Amino acid sequence: MTVTVRFAPSPTGHIHIGNIRTALYNWLFAKKAGGTFILRFDDTDVERSKREFADAIEKDLAWLGVRPDRQERQSDRLSAYDAVVERLKASGHLYACYETADELERRRSRARAIGRPPVYDRSGMKLTDEQKAELEADGRKPHWRFLLPNFESDPHGIQRTDVTWDDLCRGPQSIDLGSMSDPVLIRESGSYLYTLTSIVDDIDMGVSHIIRGEDHVANTAVQLSIFRALEATAPVFGHHNLLTTIDGEGLSKRKGALSIGSLREDGLEPMAVASLAVLTGTSQSVEAVPSMDALADRFDLASVSKSAAKFDPEELNGLNARLVHEMPFEAVQPRLARLGIMADETFWETVRENCAKVADARLYWQIVRGSIEGQVEQDDLEFLTAARNLLPEGQIDEQTWKAWTSALKSETGRKGRGLFMPLRKALTGLEHGPDMQAMLPLIGRQNILDRLP
Ligand code: GLU
Repeated sequence: MTVTVRFAPSPTGHIHIGNIRTALYNWLFAKKAGGTFILRFDDTDVERSKREFADAIEKDLAWLGVRPDRQERQSDRLSAYDAVVERLKASGHLYACYETADELERRRSRARAIGRPPVYDRSGMKLTDEQKAELEADGRKPHWRFLLPNFESDPHGIQRTDVTWDDLCRGPQSIDLGSMSDPVLIRESGSYLYTLTSIVDDIDMGVSHIIRGEDHVANTAVQLSIFRALEATAPVFGHHNLLTTIDGEGLSKRKGALSIGSLREDGLEPMAVASLAVLTGTSQSVEAVPSMDALADRFDLASVSKSAAKFDPEELNGLNARLVHEMPFEAVQPRLARLGIMADETFWETVRENCAKVADARLYWQIVRGSIEGQVEQDDLEFLTAARNLLPEGQIDEQTWKAWTSALKSETGRKGRGLFMPLRKALTGLEHGPDMQAMLPLIGRQNILDRLP
């Protein structure tokens, strides 16, 4: 089977790590199968959809290394939806309803009060043409519902009707259409709901697999019925679990804090974000995976667990540090250059273990190149003066630190922390940092002498 998948965000906000999980699951699935990945903007809700959000989503995906093979906007495809709507109206699958939102809410509360499920009673279907004409003359506009196939021959004789599918993540699924309301597919304003437009696109674009969050499981039962009404073969479905915050709260596009853009601005590596987004909530261990190819090898929809997965943004820092510690110089050199660090491989190999983010290298670059203030304690003045006098002659290299500190040890009797710490603080201004043996040649004789009293 030719694999075609789509990531279909509504551009109504900035995407977060939970949305990226869906995008990456689709992307990796397509990548493994040599298939096609479509980025589709579900932007038929004209009030909430914004171009700037769509642009930001494209940028976020590009940053993660997700390159869509094809891009579509639902707002460009309205005529395709119009044609399908005409077909569904003609075949009796769509019917007009005139209740206002308030009326519907009142009916639902009444149903709940007497212990009935708050399911729409199909009263729109009972309206005669005259009644409809009257309502329209009163200025009411219809919304349109899809008649769910949950009856034998009388739509008011609703029966238990199980829709089943074999879910790529959740295994065999069964949902009773008899307990659901007929979904609204066309709003009073005439705009279409994504439930319908998505299917028209999935059919026209040859989508073979729909991989999305488990908040869409009930939609799937409805959508399978619509595929059938359109005499189309439905794609294979997979619903992955959702990520929640550490307190179990759902992630929301409105809470910008975990947006991909904010993680990028924090200087996190895309592969740290991708590793966490893909591996959290699966039976695999969450590790920093250095490339998309390596992540594709790990990725398996069947390993996604069935329950919601808590996500701790703190974990990103640890994953990020691990990626940076292993990052080869060739990969990082252009980024260092952009930070003003015109360093060579020796510098990077010396400092990377102490960088949680690539930009942390700036601090060490200042230490080896720039003017930093060394820290000199009053109690160490004498010791540091001795150090200045004992600094070995000639080239400062990897052996210098050992020779220098041995000589200092014999001269002053200091050892351990008392021997090393005053030197580290004077030469780097820090109490912790990269190995001094490797740092010394990078700092160089002139800086060393300038920082000693
Ligand atoms: N626009 C829908 C969403 O963002 C797409 C769901 C789907 O993948 O079918 O939830």
